[in-house]
Amino acid sequence: MSGVTADYDCDVAIVGGGLVGASLALALSGLGLSITLVEAVLPEDDAQPSFDTRTTALSNGSRRVFEGLGVWEEIAREATAIAKIHISERGRFGSAVIDAAEQGIPALGFVAENRVMGRALWRRLRHVTGLTLLAPAVVVTATVDASGSRLALMDGRVIRARLAVAADGIASRVREGAGVGATSTEYGQVALIAQATPGRAHQQVAYERFASSGPIAALPIPDGRVGLIWTLEPSEATRILALDDAPFLAELQEAFGWRLGRLRAISQRYAYPLALIKADATEAPRTAIIGAAAQGMHPIAGQGFNLGLRDAATLAEVLADTLGQDPGSAAVLARYAQWRRRDRDAIIGFTDGLVRLFSSRFAPVRFARGLGLLLFDLSPTAKSAMSRLSQGFAGRLPRLARGLPLLPDRGLLP
Ligand SMILES: Cc1cc2nc3c(=O)[nH]c(=O)nc-3n(C[C@H](O)[C@H](O)[C@H](O)COP(=O)(O)OP(=O)(O)OC[C@H]3O[C@@H](n4cnc5c(N)ncnc54)[C@H](O)[C@@H]3O)c2cc1C
Repeated sequence: MSGVTADYDCDVAIVGGGLVGASLALALSGLGLSITLVEAVLPEDDAQPSFDTRTTALSNGSRRVFEGLGVWEEIAREATAIAKIHISERGRFGSAVIDAAEQGIPALGFVAENRVMGRALWRRLRHVTGLTLLAPAVVVTATVDASGSRLALMDGRVIRARLAVAADGIASRVREGAGVGATSTEYGQVALIAQATPGRAHQQVAYERFASSGPIAALPIPDGRVGLIWTLEPSEATRILALDDAPFLAELQEAFGWRLGRLRAISQRYAYPLALIKADATEAPRTAIIGAAAQGMHPIAGQGFNLGLRDAATLAEVLADTLGQDPGSAAVLARYAQWRRRDRDAIIGFTDGLVRLFSSRFAPVRFARGLGLLLFDLSPTAKSAMSRLSQGFAGRLPRLARGLPLLPDRGLLP
């Protein structure tokens, strides 16, 4: 990058201060690296795409990462522990329950609103020393040469970094600028997001209900409400989105059933088209790719953010363990990419398989999955494997996800 002037010169530039990019920025604070975080939309802005009205199911591994980043205490005040996961299919014989108590753990995971997580992350970010926060600021081009990455902002400013981190979501410009392609598989499904107030207490149970219209997740959140993720075919989603509250609730009740009693109130509804988007690589010269920029997936198994947070925790650990080396060197990046491969492939494969299994209308498949649920309910081994997965225990975990400090000789952040 010699001979090129820049307004900001740093070791690591993170593009995207959404859930994953903001977490990485916090994880890297205190390592002595100079960090620049660029975010297009301020967290308090209604248009912020990462911290919206969605609710996210967090694994215990993610909870530990947030503890390590010093934000869990604030998030926990508004999060709900998952005591049980109840999986069933409308009109079929199979159903299964995974119970935290049976698995000998206090909670299978937690449900938190994205807005709450975003607020906690950014409140802390604003007090980090050594971090340059550029927000709102949009990266328009990313180019790379042997010594670094050059990021051009829409307002004409330029950032030069030894390592650029693409944390800018599924349509990542940084990924594109680094020459990394992505394969996209449309599911032909839309996730409809809303919050409902049921007549019966949710008792901290997360429901996954496979209705004929598509899977519905009802996640326990504060004030007795549930966060809904209802997957529908696009034409059905358009029709149902246009309904007023009462007919909407009637259709939801019909699809979800009565396990939560009468569904009494419903919030505003939002729609998200669903696809599997997988970057061809998680590293490129001078570039690391994390979170939704690396993989965007169906929310059926609630794994996308948990996986993205493990990307961030792993990259932070690799950078911590190679302090003193060039953070954008091929050796450092190869270490990150190699470590992520197994976890990433396993979670993408598991989620995609689940979507295909539960989207099938083919009678033998329907029968087999009903039977599968029944057998699953009877099999302690399968349940404990699933419970480990839902806690984020697939593959080798980074230190932060195990509740350990990033630097072995340093405590968790105060
Ligand atoms: C309906 C739905 C439900 C989900 N539920 C769950 C769940 O229960 N559990 C789970 O683990 N995951 C879930 N996910 C997945 C999860 O939401 C994503 O994995 C997560 O949001 C990814 O975060 P991110 O920070 O990588 O990307 P994003 O959230 O996309 O954030 C990207 C950020 O980059 C910024 N940005 C973009 N371009 C630029 C640019 N050029 N310059 C500067 N900034 C830029 C954006 O403003 C944004 O803040 C769900 C997803 C959906 C769609």
